[in-house]
Amino acid sequence: MEKDEKLMEKIISLCKRRGFIYPGSDIYGGLAGTYDYGPLGVSLKNNIKNSWWKKFVDGRNDMYGVDAAIIMNSSVWKASGHVDTFSDPLVECVKCKRRFREDQLKEKGKCDECGSLVGEAKQFNMMFQTQIGAVEDSSATVYLRPETAQGMFVNFKNIVDSFHPKLPFGMGQIGKAFRNEITPRDFIFRVREFEQMEIEYFIKEEDWQKYFEYWRDEMLEWMDGVGIDMEKVYELEVSTDDLAHYSKRTIDFEFDFPFGRKELYGLAYRTDFDLSRHNINYQDEESNVKLIPHVIEPTFGVDRTVLALLSSSYREDLKGEEPRPYLSFKPSVAPVICAVSPLLKNKAELREYAEKIYGILKAEFGRVMWDDNGNIGKRYRRQDEIGTPWCIVVDFDTLGDDTLTIRDRDTGEQERVHKDKIVEYIKERLN
Ligand code: ATP
Repeated sequence: MEKDEKLMEKIISLCKRRGFIYPGSDIYGGLAGTYDYGPLGVSLKNNIKNSWWKKFVDGRNDMYGVDAAIIMNSSVWKASGHVDTFSDPLVECVKCKRRFREDQLKEKGKCDECGSLVGEAKQFNMMFQTQIGAVEDSSATVYLRPETAQGMFVNFKNIVDSFHPKLPFGMGQIGKAFRNEITPRDFIFRVREFEQMEIEYFIKEEDWQKYFEYWRDEMLEWMDGVGIDMEKVYELEVSTDDLAHYSKRTIDFEFDFPFGRKELYGLAYRTDFDLSRHNINYQDEESNVKLIPHVIEPTFGVDRTVLALLSSSYREDLKGEEPRPYLSFKPSVAPVICAVSPLLKNKAELREYAEKIYGILKAEFGRVMWDDNGNIGKRYRRQDEIGTPWCIVVDFDTLGDDTLTIRDRDTGEQERVHKDKIVEYIKERLN
């Protein structure tokens, strides 16, 4: 696929200008690989996470949600293999001394910056280390979790003891993960602090292929539902040489980002690797034997979802005098569902009426914005740019017949809806 650097620049600039995503620690010159989410970014992320939780945890009777600690006993990471093997090949340029991940060099063996040769690759462990407590010795070393998965494995027994689930069943978690990436890049695609939404689905070994296929379909269904452009999604069967240390089979779901085709999500068959490393087993009631369940793991990055949605939704309407950029988010994930305005800011009757409508919609939908800044054309453009599906305007006709103007983001078309029907109008379209 062709790279679209202009599109990436437009997305990054829109995100900063409109309050989605800011560079981390910006007033101090930033901190590589970190970003801060502003109000609209938080809303978008929350909608993504809620949609995921609703489908994969609340919407099912075989899933258990957890929220485990980010800092865990170091033994967890020794047992899981991360202390020994969670590393990337690091190379250093012999001339400018810059460091890169070997497998991500633009040209094999050459520095991305100055083109000189790079030295031999060394393995670089990506876990962030810190010390816990007041004593500074090796027993106090802890890691920020590089994946949320282990938080579920170490709670497997707790869930079994509290809820007595029968196989197959799963655990789901949404939370932060940290990786000291050698070369964070491509905006929020590769960062050092990010969020994951992960499922560990526990099964009997003989069923792994069946559930691998099942979860592949579930993942695709969710992606489509949340608004990812499915024409840009590709499945990559990870070759045996590239499999993670715990996996027997992995599919990467790749996405055509503006900077190239890259991993969006993964689906892995983790065998019984993790539970057996943690010495955890399960008493199967059916066969009355102790066994170690096997695991299928669908894993989703929240930040990469945000970026995939931004790339899937960015549009420019070229019909008018100037291009009209807008984000065609589905209403269910749009940071703002609708904006309410009085046609004229200083007309008290219009304003009071609009405030009442705003109050009703705000109480019903929450993600509703009051917007009386600038003229109506500017307000529409601003709302289009942040992906608000509907702008609702109180004008002089409203005062006579109680109808409101509703303008559609994608078509720019307007219709009049009675004030008593407005909640229903939006509800119908939201679902
Ligand atoms: P990559 O090959 O791109 O480094 P990975 O295969 O190491 O990714 P996994 O370990 O499978 O990634 O992590 C699960 C998911 O977490 C990924 O599919 C991705 O969505 C997200 N993710 C992983 N690393 C990062 C990161 N540095 N920044 C943002 N999201 C990430």
